[in-house]
Amino acid sequence: MPQVNQTKSLNVIGMHCASCASIIKRKLEGLSGIEKCEVNSGTEKAQVTYNPQKVSLSRMNQEIDKLGYSLEVSSQPQNVTQEHDQMDHTQMDPSFHAGHDMMTPISSDASIKARKLQELNQLATHIKITVPLIAVSVFKMIWEVGANPLGLWSAMSLNAQNFFHYLLPIFATYVLFVIGLPYLQGVWRFIKYRVANMDTLVGIGTSVAYIYSFVLSAFSIQLAPFLNTQHTYYDVVIVVIGFITIGKYFEARSKLKTGEAIEKLLGLQVKTALVIRKGEQVEISIEQVVVGDILIVKPGQKIPVDGEIVDGATSIDESMITGESIPVDKKLHDVVIGATINKQGSLKIKATKVGKDTMLSQIITMVETAQGSKAPIEHLADQISSVFVPVVLVFAIITLVLWLIIGSQFMPFSQALTLGITSFVGILVIACPCAMGLATPTAVIVGVGKAAQNGILIKNAESLQKLSGVNYLVMDKTGTLTKGMPEVTDILSTSDLTNNQILQLVASLERHSEHPLAQAVVNKNQLEKQSFLDVKDFLAIEGKGLRGSLDGQMYLVGNTSLVADLGLTADSKIISNFTSQGKTPVVLAGKQQILGYLAIADTIKDDAVQVVARLHQQGIKVAMLTGDHQQTASYIADQIGIDTVIAEVLPGGKAKEINKLHSTGLKVAMAGDGINDAPALATADVGIAMGTGTDVAIESADITLLGGHISALPKAIVLSRATMRTIKQNLFWAFFYNVIGIPIAAGLLYPIFGILLNPALAGSAMAFSSVSVVLNALKLKRLNLLQEPI
Ligand code: ADP
Ligand code: MG
Repeated sequence: MPQVNQTKSLNVIGMHCASCASIIKRKLEGLSGIEKCEVNSGTEKAQVTYNPQKVSLSRMNQEIDKLGYSLEVSSQPQNVTQEHDQMDHTQMDPSFHAGHDMMTPISSDASIKARKLQELNQLATHIKITVPLIAVSVFKMIWEVGANPLGLWSAMSLNAQNFFHYLLPIFATYVLFVIGLPYLQGVWRFIKYRVANMDTLVGIGTSVAYIYSFVLSAFSIQLAPFLNTQHTYYDVVIVVIGFITIGKYFEARSKLKTGEAIEKLLGLQVKTALVIRKGEQVEISIEQVVVGDILIVKPGQKIPVDGEIVDGATSIDESMITGESIPVDKKLHDVVIGATINKQGSLKIKATKVGKDTMLSQIITMVETAQGSKAPIEHLADQISSVFVPVVLVFAIITLVLWLIIGSQFMPFSQALTLGITSFVGILVIACPCAMGLATPTAVIVGVGKAAQNGILIKNAESLQKLSGVNYLVMDKTGTLTKGMPEVTDILSTSDLTNNQILQLVASLERHSEHPLAQAVVNKNQLEKQSFLDVKDFLAIEGKGLRGSLDGQMYLVGNTSLVADLGLTADSKIISNFTSQGKTPVVLAGKQQILGYLAIADTIKDDAVQVVARLHQQGIKVAMLTGDHQQTASYIADQIGIDTVIAEVLPGGKAKEINKLHSTGLKVAMAGDGINDAPALATADVGIAMGTGTDVAIESADITLLGGHISALPKAIVLSRATMRTIKQNLFWAFFYNVIGIPIAAGLLYPIFGILLNPALAGSAMAFSSVSVVLNALKLKRLNLLQEPI
């Protein structure tokens, strides 16, 4: 039996808050066949790991439909964790379309956006109606309470009292039953299915206020001897629902903005391509391009898909992918990335990756997945909000009862009842964990999106959180700190061979190697216009060099430790002469003796010094990790300002070195090329892959710097720290306001100060808190990544 569980990312409809998320999670995880379910209230998506043989999507929908939610398959290709899902599952996976699952609709991102805009429009209409009603209610409240210190108006006349007495119930009825319908549905679901979310709290609060007021109005004559029948709560119903609606509107509007990064990425996709088919140029839609197609790209046009230049040369603006604004020169056989802009030359490119495999598609999937993922810091908020609603409900009831029992000892029962109801409604309204649920996801969405726009791809929220805590960065030397384009600087024969013969021998052997050093020797030999000799029995010796035979003679090329394995000793004077200049010594040895030396030098990247200085300002220590000679490495490290050198490490030992650092309590990030350094990247707390071209192993690292520019490292740090700071601020305010608000609403301050939170005020406070959390997250958009370290 093959692996049967699969993970899908689904859109959730009808979700408002963190407690919705926990209800959905609980319900779905209760179904047999569902292994795991993560619901994110920020992205309104659910990641469900399930066995399609045991449970279908329509079954899942059935389960949560009655609670007012539904699941939809997103049409944007999802990145699925299981191995088989290479194809676009919306077409290939029968469980989404075939017979038994007709219930699960498929929605495109465009249709989701359209629906959100429609919701927004409806909220806007509601606001237009409620604002005047709120104004009237607030006017009445102020007049009635007599908050009139300057004596600007006279006390409310009996006529005016009567006017409001008849007007407000009409307003409140409309507001509760039309605008507040979702809250009433929340109450209904609570009664029927025992699930409570924030709608339930608001619904119970406002309907209790409404019913109480209605009873007072209806039986005013009969109740007059016992209760103050003038004290109705119609105004509270209007103001609470009104303010929450206004809050929802602003929240929805801001939340649309948080998703702009994805929209921009989607907007980069090219729609059509000019392709040569049967010797003729035809324009076809992008979906029809297949691997191997020859595409024509004119100056100023976007490159349609990932490919390789087969004709022409140009410079290309890759800023939309890498975040680097300087155009990159491209010549024959260079790799080009879809969605980047061809500046001058006319090009022919051969498509190498299309559809889901293109870099842009991968980026979009990655960003979406990351935006929907949960940061560890969020788990606490999740746990709290999952128990919050029932706890608050019980607390509100206890408060009401206490007011009636204890309060009535000190005041007339009618007054205790009034205060008790005020507390009850106030608690329910202020306690909504709405802001708490939005605190983390909104910041993650904006942070991850902003990172992507700067060429920084973040795998998930956890990586982002971990990066913010990093205090030690290990960098690979070759290609990361140096340009990775080494050149031969010295040739020294220590035998009867000439220098050129040494070069020819080494180059002939190196021609079969893939090491960056090898290329340098091959280039030099070509430069000297020398031929290459035939090599047999070639063998690469990892982290040391290589072996091969020429004319029946065995030769070794590599570092001092390689020749030491043979029992030969390299001339320490020659070696230290090279290494003290930062050059890498390469030794050529026969079976019995050392024949000669080469020195190879790589140049330091232009911005390496500056980047390391910035990292230091950020409080991060920087180490260089390399297989190169200790002294060579130290020389280069000194020039860059690196703190620690870890040299002469075999490729297999790199992960061990990272582990050693980690075990001393450091929070270690490792930056390397992602392909050779994969084990070390995986071992580090945060693995950062420096990408170049389209071959970046996006999946393998926690963070991928698409342009391969180390200047993105301090930027990524700034961004991660700012995002975490935003999350903490958000969580603090969300908690703080509940912690302060609930006791005040319960009447804790009443006996001493006579202060009781007005439910209307509670409603506006709660609306304000959600909006402020989203706005705070949006502030990240304007963050300057070059700003002073924090
Ligand atoms: P790095 O950390 O620079 O990637 P490697 O592990 O690839 O180092 O190689 C370590 C050392 O082994 C190099 O610095 C070099 O001295 C030697 N070496 C490896 N491969 C070769 C080769 N093909 N030719 C010459 N020297 C080599
Ligand atoms: Mg290397």
